[in-house]
Amino acid sequence: MIKVKFYGVRGSIATAGDETRRYGGNTSCVAVQAGGETLIFDAGTGIRRLGADLGAGVASGGVRAHLFFSHLHWDHIQGFPFFGPAFGPGNRLDVYGVQSELDPGGHPQTIEIPMATLSDGPPVADAKGVRAAMAAQMNAPNFPVGLDAMRADLRFFDVPYGERITLPASSAPIIVRHVGVDHPNGCVAWRVEHDGHAVVYATDLELAEGTDGAVFDGLVELSRGADLLVFDAMYTPEEYEGKGTFSRRGWGHSTFEMGAALAEQAKVRSLCLFHHDPNHDDAFMDRLASRARARFSQTTIAQEGMELSL
Ligand SMILES: [Zn+2]
Ligand SMILES: [Zn+2]
Repeated sequence: MIKVKFYGVRGSIATAGDETRRYGGNTSCVAVQAGGETLIFDAGTGIRRLGADLGAGVASGGVRAHLFFSHLHWDHIQGFPFFGPAFGPGNRLDVYGVQSELDPGGHPQTIEIPMATLSDGPPVADAKGVRAAMAAQMNAPNFPVGLDAMRADLRFFDVPYGERITLPASSAPIIVRHVGVDHPNGCVAWRVEHDGHAVVYATDLELAEGTDGAVFDGLVELSRGADLLVFDAMYTPEEYEGKGTFSRRGWGHSTFEMGAALAEQAKVRSLCLFHHDPNHDDAFMDRLASRARARFSQTTIAQEGMELSL
């Protein structure tokens, strides 16, 4: 069995307040439990609460988790310095990023994070990749303590594009794989498979007409037959097209209709809309939910605290 729990469902920036209380205001963070292992997707502000749920007193020890980044935009990393288990000696945290950016043909390329962003802090051994990105956001003057204040056993992996990860687990191995998606600065969608079940985490992607065919096909293949597809549906179709305002084309996000089209093509069992626009309050999300269900009946809207068993 796979269990999925949503700790942060909002895109771009956290939205605390009464008007977003039901769907939730924290930015992207999803926990997946499979075979006795904890897998975490993105470290938006929601990861603080997840750390507390894992029983993470700073000195606790015994917490073990795998953290996968879709990409390194701020709303997906800014909770990392507040993930309690990372500070506790005896805890173990494996952190995975895929350093890729799509070229105009839709093919992933390796990117490097410039050394200049690390100039004012303690020396960072590896100035590229996911470790450097975590260190950079904790450097002075942005944060009071550096990455070295985290006393857990932290291991950082820059996964070569396309490489699948196998995690040994109690009943059956957990297979984690990814494909590149269309988003400014690059992003990947992840799939977790365990014991005949699968969940796909596909956020921060634009799946419009005109998306490179290879990218769309890659996503269909990644999502095929999944029990659950978590999908970036940040905009309504009207917002995306810019009816009455301005178009969001090229901003790197999708609509529920694009999610439904992918869900149908890949024959997934259920679709979960995610990465809600900060301007979409609870009443707006309720209306969006009924529209989305009319388009694809097996649709849920991600809500902070919601737990699904696959
Ligand atoms: Zn985002
Ligand atoms: Zn992004």
